[in-house]
Amino acid sequence: MSQTVVIIGGGVAGLSAAGRLRDFGYDVVLIEKESQVGGYVKNWYKVFPDFTPGSEIVDRLKQDLRGTEILTDCSVEKIEGAAPNFRVTTSTGKEIAANAILVATGFRHFDATFKEEYGYGLYDNTITSIDFDAMLKQKQVRTAAGKIPKKVAMVHCVGSRDQQVNNNYCSRVCCTNSVKVSIGLKELLPDCEVFSLYMDIRVFGRGYEELYRSSQEEYGVQFIRGRLSEASEQNNGSLLLRVEDTLTSRPMRLTVDLLVLMVGMCGNSELSEVAGLKTGVDRFYETAHQQYSNNASHRPGIFLAGTATGPKAIVESITDGRSAAADIAGFLATSAPMNGMNGSSQGRFAAMELSNLGGRT
Ligand code: SF4
Repeated sequence: MSQTVVIIGGGVAGLSAAGRLRDFGYDVVLIEKESQVGGYVKNWYKVFPDFTPGSEIVDRLKQDLRGTEILTDCSVEKIEGAAPNFRVTTSTGKEIAANAILVATGFRHFDATFKEEYGYGLYDNTITSIDFDAMLKQKQVRTAAGKIPKKVAMVHCVGSRDQQVNNNYCSRVCCTNSVKVSIGLKELLPDCEVFSLYMDIRVFGRGYEELYRSSQEEYGVQFIRGRLSEASEQNNGSLLLRVEDTLTSRPMRLTVDLLVLMVGMCGNSELSEVAGLKTGVDRFYETAHQQYSNNASHRPGIFLAGTATGPKAIVESITDGRSAAADIAGFLATSAPMNGMNGSSQGRFAAMELSNLGGRT
């Protein structure tokens, strides 16, 4: 009899964990609340820094799922028992016996209507980075009136690093995402002027700094170190931006046809009660230890991966999913009942190997 791991959340962290757990020989049941797996990434037109289409990444991860049972349009209602004998009940009434559980439920985007001064939901030409990504995917960047924009501004840190909305953390990806969509826009509409309003530029990953430079030197994106205090709609639908230039300490005004809010990531703690998980002050799930048990929750046998524990880039979420899989293998090798698995199976062997790498919780 093999051991079963239930993964809750079919974004890139959940998918990469599922693939690795299948490599180790475990049975995997992946529960996804939407009708398709792939999370947000399946919809992104391209991802930084190499402009791989989001759908390509998801398709590649799906190839590793071999034999994973996938339950879509499904959520978790109840988790009973304790490690290594959990019983998971889904919204469809299915009961699954699980030896370990991985929570990879991802994040929510910041609700930009909370920043009323930027006019999202009030002004037709104030949109979010998600709306803008969809426009780039369609190769149709237009104002609400259907015109080709001549000036577009990206506003960084919307809902991140902002005490007013109680999100003090940096969302880590939106600076580079702004660079990516700015390049995408300049490739589509070379004559459009693109402004990026930032507090600090945080582009830290491999190839990100180069992309940032290229956006300025090759594409002419204009970066302005400034805080947008207010946007107001003009009669023709354009937006007047009042910005404080924080390099010169002088106020400036800028009129644009489209205002793109780079919305940050927020914790998605919807399973905290059902799974008995703690959340931090940032409302992401808390891990057992931030340094050396970053995939373990405080509850033995329940693990965490991806943006469920804080903002991450796509590549980091994929790596984190695989890291969680290794931790789960180590955990099951030492804590599951001996009659729960054939001792000579590939899964157990692989798990024992991995536990020696320090993956235990
Ligand atoms: Fe702001 Fe950049 Fe951090 Fe995003 S990554 S929160 S835009 S500093």
